[in-house]
Amino acid sequence: MMSGGSVDYNNHPAVINLKNYLKIKCVHPDIKYGKCVEFLVGMAAEIGLAAETHTLPGDLPLLVMTWEGLKPELPTILLNSHMDVVPAEGDWKHPPFGAEVEDGVIYGRGAQDMKGTSIQYLEAVRKLKSQGTRLNRTVHLTFVPEEEKGGRAGMGEFVKTEAYRRLNVGFALDEGLSNPGEEFLVFNKEKSMWHVNIICTGKSGHGSMLLPENCGEKVRYVINKFMDLREFYRQKLVDDSNLTIGEVTTINLTKLQGGVQTNIVPEQFTATFDIRLATNMNHEMFEELINRWCREAGNGVRCEFDHKDPYVKPTVMDHTNHYWVAMKKAIEDMGITLIVGTMPATTDARFLRGGAHALNFAPARRAAPSPHQRDESLPLDVFVHGIDVYEKILLAVANLEE
Ligand code: ZN
Repeated sequence: MMSGGSVDYNNHPAVINLKNYLKIKCVHPDIKYGKCVEFLVGMAAEIGLAAETHTLPGDLPLLVMTWEGLKPELPTILLNSHMDVVPAEGDWKHPPFGAEVEDGVIYGRGAQDMKGTSIQYLEAVRKLKSQGTRLNRTVHLTFVPEEEKGGRAGMGEFVKTEAYRRLNVGFALDEGLSNPGEEFLVFNKEKSMWHVNIICTGKSGHGSMLLPENCGEKVRYVINKFMDLREFYRQKLVDDSNLTIGEVTTINLTKLQGGVQTNIVPEQFTATFDIRLATNMNHEMFEELINRWCREAGNGVRCEFDHKDPYVKPTVMDHTNHYWVAMKKAIEDMGITLIVGTMPATTDARFLRGGAHALNFAPARRAAPSPHQRDESLPLDVFVHGIDVYEKILLAVANLEE
């Protein structure tokens, strides 16, 4: 029995599928996708969905399931989820791959991010099919690898293929975040992730001198600039209660490297920053600012990017986006309000946004977000209700006429 509820979800068929999926260790590092793909292909067969496995460079599998619509020539609906999960470190209350239930809450790595969503997609389609429903538009489900490593080797590769182009995606849903409040959260844009190394070189010398042109002075200048800007955004977030972390640029100093021995001034220090640019940041101007700081820090200071997301235009959220209008109405008809925001982390939706109307969404409210956390969990009533939500969304968006 659930605390406060009267329904026992423990033996709900969708919950049993979720448990079985959570028990498959498809986890970084040294990830193996075989069992995951096998399980999902089994579910597709059970539901009566065509399933095709593509092999991406690096021998990475990507699974596409298809439910053909009555008008397959229309742009299609894509439900995307990733198969991989992040490592489950530390002391968990319940084993991270045990899928145990306590007080109506299921515990497991991937419960929210995002195996729960994958099963909700599949169960929503199963429900519709079992009622004999036919939708106008074709619905595709993609199960992709490597999202938790940035997605470039997974969805990032797949969107370049002819196989993806042929899916003719008009509208896509990808992972979102649960909300402890009463509303559902939906995100139409993401920040851009930049990982930058500032390499400061100078003259080496004895640790007892006060020599000019040394890399310690230069790295201090650079760190001050980045951390001052960080403080500016931190304060902005504190001062304006309307802002969320998704709407401000974040900057963090994440690595410092250099040094040989305590009494030697080294030739080089490197400072590494993890920067997530808000969608209103001008990428060119910000890069120019970083370059200016490097010049101001002195000779021999340069910046090298480990990663630099390009600017991606947000998905339009007005009356011209018929998919959004239909989805919003379907959810409001269920008596639930939506809040539109900026996804604070990067997801595979950024690869889809160029061509399709892509949104990040989780039909999960009254539940604390716990992705990547110890004791990642999802209340089972939230999970089961989410299946109905996807069912209603599919009925709305996949029945749109052109
Ligand atoms: Zn995820």
